[in-house]
Amino acid sequence: MDSLLKHMVDMTGHRDHTMLDISVIAAVQELAAAAQTRVLSLYNVAGQLHVRVRASIEAGAGARVHDALDSAVPGAPLASYPELAACLAARETSAEAVAPDGTRTLWLPIWFGDKADTCLEIVRAAPFPAQTIHTVAGIVGVYRNFQNLLDYSERDSLTGLLNRKTFEDQLARMLQCPCEPEPPQPGQPERRQHREEEKQWLAVVDVDHFKLVNDTFGHLYGDEVLILIANQLQASFRAQDRVFRFGGEEFVVLLRATTLENARRIIDRFRANVEAYDFPQVGRVTVSVGFVSISPFDSPVVTLGHADQALYFAKTHGRNQACHYNELVEQGLLQTVASNDTAEFF
Ligand code: GH3
Ligand code: MG
Ligand code: MG
Repeated sequence: MDSLLKHMVDMTGHRDHTMLDISVIAAVQELAAAAQTRVLSLYNVAGQLHVRVRASIEAGAGARVHDALDSAVPGAPLASYPELAACLAARETSAEAVAPDGTRTLWLPIWFGDKADTCLEIVRAAPFPAQTIHTVAGIVGVYRNFQNLLDYSERDSLTGLLNRKTFEDQLARMLQCPCEPEPPQPGQPERRQHREEEKQWLAVVDVDHFKLVNDTFGHLYGDEVLILIANQLQASFRAQDRVFRFGGEEFVVLLRATTLENARRIIDRFRANVEAYDFPQVGRVTVSVGFVSISPFDSPVVTLGHADQALYFAKTHGRNQACHYNELVEQGLLQTVASNDTAEFF
């Protein structure tokens, strides 16, 4: 019991999803005498559920975080976990598989209403004693509540998007551990060539003439436009990208591992979606976007400053367009601003 309490104190002492994941798997690993414990993310790609390992721990080793931020690996389709797939389809709280050598795998999806986007997976050499299942179920309950609390503190209350604080944390993390190109794969030169062009991108989105929307239709209609644009953002970007409300009528998007061509296409698809949308009462609304590739050699403040410069260019050259910082600099349309490393974080 003493050990359980210590784990509970550790689990609830974190203000960050990654640290919570680690303390939960460390607790489960010890209390269930497991061979391996993992946190799985369940996410949608083109209507199909996929499974990605988020964190793992093995007997005799430390916990490992598998950072989706840096991973271009899409994870496995849910079909490769048939017991878990059946459990999710039936909205059940656990599933178990027994391997021919007697190894047990227990899956515990974390349900929020009718949605589960996290699942604990526990592997054990022998059957799970009833007391262990009872203890682990208690930990899952605390994990679930605490995840809910963290989600709440990371999100903006109007749009439900991740908030500015979460953006600052995630950008700083992306800059600390940039996406390293993978070592050459024997016999796969084309793939390597393709990989090298993939970068992370930061896009700043600002609604055009939004003050006019508020002044003409009132603040409540303005709020409605922000909610609808947030929905467009979520629908237009990929599962591995992250969308944030930066403040007011400004949003930022972190695009993971993609080429310039793809980043431009995805960003412009969003811009065109907004342009084509018929906003109730308000009618037509457009957005301007500035985007830049994320370089590990630049600080968050410099990276954001570059995206802002490109956004400003878009605003002063007709709005309703997406401008690429590096391209504007190459064309001599923007001056590079000297890096100011002593500038305050945002
Ligand atoms: P530009 O095309 O140059 O971006 O023009 P703009 O009118 O969008 O820019 P400006 O910065 O002048 O105005 C932004 C407006 O956004 C002013 C402010 O009242 C409004 N705003 C900021 N936050 C909110 C919000 O949460 N709800 C609503 N309804 N309005 C907001
Ligand atoms: Mg603005
Ligand atoms: Mg604006």
